[in-house]
Amino acid sequence: MAWAKAITEIAVEQEESIRTEDIVEIQLRDIAKKVLCYYFEQTIFFDLQQSSNPVKPPVMVIIAKQLITTYQTRTGSIKPVKWFRSNIEILCSLEYEKAVSSTVKALKSDVSYRFLRVESKEVEGKYQHEQKADSLYMQEEDLFTLKGSRLIVVDAINYRWTQMLENFNNYPRLSKKVRIIDEDQVRLKSLGKFAELIEAENPQCRCFFMRRTVSETPAIDHVIPWSYYYSDDLWNVVFVHQPCNSSKSNVIPSEKMILRLVARNQALLYRLKENSKLNKHVSELELAIEGNFVRKFWIACQN
Ligand SMILES: [Zn+2]
Repeated sequence: MAWAKAITEIAVEQEESIRTEDIVEIQLRDIAKKVLCYYFEQTIFFDLQQSSNPVKPPVMVIIAKQLITTYQTRTGSIKPVKWFRSNIEILCSLEYEKAVSSTVKALKSDVSYRFLRVESKEVEGKYQHEQKADSLYMQEEDLFTLKGSRLIVVDAINYRWTQMLENFNNYPRLSKKVRIIDEDQVRLKSLGKFAELIEAENPQCRCFFMRRTVSETPAIDHVIPWSYYYSDDLWNVVFVHQPCNSSKSNVIPSEKMILRLVARNQALLYRLKENSKLNKHVSELELAIEGNFVRKFWIACQN
C-alpha cells in the first residue's frame, strides 16, 4: 500500500509541462522518502501495528521507530508531529539519510519487483524495473493517467490499508487514522487559545482529573482523547497537571469523568455568558451542551 501510494504521489507531482520524454525515471530513493513518511506518521500518532506479530514488526516499522526515538530525544518532546512540520531532515540529518537508505534496501529486497508479476503472470503496462535496480521506469502517459485518477486511487489504497490494519489493531476509526496522513489540516494544534476561556470556570487552575491546584503552568488536555475525536473543542478541553496529560494515550474516560465534564461545561457556559464572552468557541460549547455531545462521543468512542 505504501509503495502504491508513494508512486501515486510522485505521479501527482509530475508536471504536465515537462512533457518531452516518453519514459519517466522514478528513483527508489524518492519512493523510499515517501514510504518512510507514511510509517513515521502512522507510528508517531497512533503506534499502529502493521503485522500480526507484535514482537517482530515489519522492517519499515523498525526503521520508523528508530527515527522517531532519535527525533524525540533530540527535540525533547514526545508530542506527535506531522512529517512536514517536523523538520526531521535537518534536525536528524544523519539518521534520516540512514533511514532512507535502509528503506531503499527494504524496498529492493521485498517490494519493488513483486508487482511485476501477479500470480506468476507478468503484469504489463505498469512499470519497468530490474530487481535490485535503483530506479523504475514508467510511461509518461501512464503516470498522467494515474495522476488524473489520484483521488479514487488513493481512496482505494487507504481502504485496503485500513482493511489490513483491522486485522491487528483494535483502535476505533482506523480508516480515519490511515487517511489522516493525507490531511494536512487535521493535526494536533496548540490548545493555548482555550486557556483564557477554561480559566473563566477554573481560575485556581485545578487539575481536572485530580482536583488539585496545578502550581506550574497547567497543560490543556482532551477528556475524550483526540485520537477518537480529531477535534479541538472547548467542551472537551480542561486544565491538567503536565504528568496527567493523556493526549498521547487512547484511554477512554470513566463515567465519573464524563459526568464531571458535563457539569463543568454547564458551569463554564454560565461563567462565560456572565462575563459576556461570546465567540465561536462559546457558541460551540452551547451547541455541545444542547446536543449532549460529551455523552454521545463518549459512547461512540467505546464502539
Ligand atoms: Zn493532575
